[in-house]
Amino acid sequence: MTIRPRDDLALMAGYHSPQVDVAVRLNTNEAPEPPPPGFAEAVAEEVARLAWHRYPDRSYRTLREAIATHHGVDPGQVFAANGSNEVLQTLCLSYGGAGRTAAVFEPTYALHSHIARITGTAVATGERSEDLSLDLDEVRRVLAEASPAITFLCSPNNPTGMLDDEATIRAVLALVPGLLVVDEAYGQFAPWSALELVRDDGPLVVTRTFSKTWSMAAARLGYLIGPRSLVAQLDEVVLPYHLDAVKQAAGRIALGFDTAMRARVASLVEERGRLVARLADLPVTVWPSAANFVLFRPHDRDGVAVWQALLDRSVLVRDCSSWPRLDGCLRVTIGTPAEDDAFLAALEEALA
Ligand code: PMP
Repeated sequence: MTIRPRDDLALMAGYHSPQVDVAVRLNTNEAPEPPPPGFAEAVAEEVARLAWHRYPDRSYRTLREAIATHHGVDPGQVFAANGSNEVLQTLCLSYGGAGRTAAVFEPTYALHSHIARITGTAVATGERSEDLSLDLDEVRRVLAEASPAITFLCSPNNPTGMLDDEATIRAVLALVPGLLVVDEAYGQFAPWSALELVRDDGPLVVTRTFSKTWSMAAARLGYLIGPRSLVAQLDEVVLPYHLDAVKQAAGRIALGFDTAMRARVASLVEERGRLVARLADLPVTVWPSAANFVLFRPHDRDGVAVWQALLDRSVLVRDCSSWPRLDGCLRVTIGTPAEDDAFLAALEEALA
């Protein structure tokens, strides 16, 4: 007997970022520091009290309420899962699938099209403008041609860092024939969020993650805010008890450290300004970032060679040079000032 995966999976490449042991790791847009003091102890206390022999609260009521309170919305508008990737997957399982299409605008977060395809959803691809901002004429063209059940935007966009402003999101909202998903994995670093446009009678959902600002990439927790009827649908599709009890507690406890989180976001935004100012003195093109990372392209250099030269100096950044439209581009996560200084020193040497 031959064991064969689905034919439509055969040509798909996975999504990988090398996990290399280096001194300075700036390749996956994580927070540079662990959660604030007191967080781990509070989680440990909860874990010690857990009823390990029982399934967790299937509807994760207290976590859901805490997220809802954090955003000033109704708990019925909150759906959480194991990382925002699983939120996106549950959206595709519920609103995509055979005979349906999802639209993406490249370059953007690779998992949008990847998850769509894995769930059997066809992908319609549009191109961003020359400067990599969203091109509304192109959006209009793709939506008219493909009539997608799901349209993905990413704001700030990974890997460019660029923000879609309110006028742009409103314009796309007026055009979509189905669901509009705005992935705000980096939303806290930006001056504006599409959250304020979410309505029970509208087609918009906004996804968020605990992986970046909340220093909780290890926990795998993400969520969306969307219409109540959509959240009820996702609750039906996702596996029973998908959120384990430890994660439910950790997420709820993290939200109690809101003030510390906001202070960290503010200092990362300031540090982003410092890094961008230093990059301006180097022979690189830099895209304007509203996120905790910066996309840049070294002038007259092979991107992979620069990436390797940084790695040789124990600095790991993301090599985006093989991604659509990103020839020679690298993406660096904002780290601690010391990590960023190490990156800048290594980059100066690599470009010398
Ligand atoms: N969306 C975007 C735009 C991202 O960059 C990432 C993380 N790389 C995710 C979603 C997934 O985040 P999570 O860790 O919550 O699955």
